[in-house]
Amino acid sequence: MHATMMDYPLTLAHYLERAGTLLGDREIVTRLPDRSVHRYRFGDFHRRARQLASALARAGLKRGQPVATMMWNNYPHQEAYFGVACAGGVLHTLNFRLHPGDIAYIANHAGDRFVIVDDVLLPLFEKVRPEIAAERVFVVALSGQPVPAGYESYEDLLGTGDADDDLPRPEEGDACGVCYTSGTTGRPKGVVYSHRAMVLHTMAMCMTEPFGLSQNDTIMPVVPMFHANAWGLPYGAVASGARIVLPGPHLDPVSLLDLAEAEGVTFAAGVPTIWNGILQALDAEPDRWSLAAGLRTAVGGSAASEAMIRGFDRHGVRTIHAWGMTETTPLGSAAVLKSSMEALDEDTRYDYRAKQGIAMPFVDMRLMNDSGIVPRDGETMGELQVRGPWVAAAYHESDELADKWTDDGWLRTGDVATIDAEGFMKITDRTKDLIKSGGEWISSVDLENALMGHDAVSEAAVIAVRHAKWEERPLAVVVLKEGAEADADALQGHLAGRFAKWWLPDDYVFVDEIPRTSTGKFLKSALRERFEERLVAGDG
Ligand code: ADP
Repeated sequence: MHATMMDYPLTLAHYLERAGTLLGDREIVTRLPDRSVHRYRFGDFHRRARQLASALARAGLKRGQPVATMMWNNYPHQEAYFGVACAGGVLHTLNFRLHPGDIAYIANHAGDRFVIVDDVLLPLFEKVRPEIAAERVFVVALSGQPVPAGYESYEDLLGTGDADDDLPRPEEGDACGVCYTSGTTGRPKGVVYSHRAMVLHTMAMCMTEPFGLSQNDTIMPVVPMFHANAWGLPYGAVASGARIVLPGPHLDPVSLLDLAEAEGVTFAAGVPTIWNGILQALDAEPDRWSLAAGLRTAVGGSAASEAMIRGFDRHGVRTIHAWGMTETTPLGSAAVLKSSMEALDEDTRYDYRAKQGIAMPFVDMRLMNDSGIVPRDGETMGELQVRGPWVAAAYHESDELADKWTDDGWLRTGDVATIDAEGFMKITDRTKDLIKSGGEWISSVDLENALMGHDAVSEAAVIAVRHAKWEERPLAVVVLKEGAEADADALQGHLAGRFAKWWLPDDYVFVDEIPRTSTGKFLKSALRERFEERLVAGDG
């Protein structure tokens, strides 16, 4: 017997049309550079995204050709997310926090034909403009100033399109977007998403578990729209009919809390750095904001500590800890408690919630070490490998790192993890950040999370430093909360009892801030360089 179903393409165009025709009254709110607020509805968004698609096609954009954006989270960016893909093009979100040389490399490597830039980002863009081959640059004038001479206006581009045009019909295997990894080793690598991968990822993320997005939600992606598709939220919101709140360039904790309160945000997403700041603001002034009851936040990109998850619970904010990578679109796993776990004691429930969680539907996960597949005992560490319909099978035009994939077709994530009997995965490190002491692995992430559980600690990064006897030993680099005090002995005392003695850091250094990557993660390579010459002489 053969299946009798239609062969209907899974493309983003369907989500756009459905949003415009069935969910037209849903609102999209953007905080502009001058802090005023722009509002319009899915109906307007649908028309303008179609106009953009038509204008790009009329301007000669061909199937599979990339259009870059250098933009904050705002409504024209949301339009580009759909308009470019519905023109048959490929949305290339440029990470403007990268070094200009890297941005130019990425834009040229992708072959970006057009670029859309926020006017407030023009000073940055001008540093790369001479280096990049893009034919035309369109400026989005959200700051209230006219478009500067020498540039074309995004609004004029839209004016050349017609929302009623017959748009190209992408096939589900066609490319719809490309993101480059930050490339801490070697050049950045391009991950090219297909419509099919994005549609399936969108449906999976909207499910009741993990994120449960619906028309009852007001979603605020704090994660930049250039970071791994803003974790799929620009698509998830349109697919589910959720209200969208885009914070523009104002990402400090007070601005975000003000906006979340004013707009009744029920779901927000961002990296732990952002949430750490927000939690400290809430702790400092617990009565200042009245946030929506049941507010949930997706936290990922680096580990959310148990202390942070507990801290937010005290303010009635529910953290959903998720793991993913640019190569996995990005959602790979999320720590949503199984119903059988609700009866567990509180500490055990927090243990599970602080893990990176169970694999998403359609994502297979395994751990490998030198002896093969690692048992799911929650203790043995191995390299995390994944496969699935929204997992990359290659990088765009790059032969480097062919060993990123195993011979039997799994992506080697570069993360080291454990998986327990419930299937909950826990990241213990990135391969390159592991601390190898006397041949045994120490998890820097576990030590960091425990340190961040100390009342005086704002942030902690633990790195390997050389040791005469043990090869490497942990060094803790600590930022204290403003006005708080703690010395090395106090922190060591806090860790003792939680870890085997040989795991404890040999030394502590106190710094004002921890250097970060362009996506807000600890830049441990910079710390390792800074403390390279530090030979720890503890007894290990
Ligand atoms: P970059 O290389 O720029 O950091 P990605 O955003 O793709 O790019 O980073 C993916 C990596 O981020 C993962 O391989 C993992 O190391 C880390 N990561 C993502 N989410 C988590 C999480 N919840 N906990 C710990 N690490 C995480």
